[in-house]
Amino acid sequence: MVKLADITTTPQKIKIPVFRTQKKFNKWYVEVYLKSAHWIGFAIWMKRQYPFCAECRRSSVALETHHETYINLGKETEKDCRNLCAACHKTIHKTLQDLGFATEREYIAWIQAKEKKKRKKHRQRR
Ligand SMILES: [Zn+2]
Ligand SMILES: [Zn+2]
Repeated sequence: MVKLADITTTPQKIKIPVFRTQKKFNKWYVEVYLKSAHWIGFAIWMKRQYPFCAECRRSSVALETHHETYINLGKETEKDCRNLCAACHKTIHKTLQDLGFATEREYIAWIQAKEKKKRKKHRQRR
């Protein structure tokens, strides 16, 4: 367990091994990554910086640090994550799962790509 006194505003970094399958990665993510000093330290730091749920703005609840993207896994910054209460966190993951996306950024990128295509088509017609 990470001691509060050991945590600075600069999150520690963790090396991500190479995984051949998503299943192996998922297992490592849950069993190793989420329990690592890096992640625990970062989540504590996030909760100090943002002591409220980013969705419903409640602050009197236990917060969970949620990844908006996994692109910077192991060297996350506050731009990659946000804090959510358990209820909002569950809703977001359920919605993303229903839509078939792993993260919000993936979903946003998909929408943006769709818009770009539409605009391109529009331009070509003129
Ligand atoms: Zn909430
Ligand atoms: Zn999450």
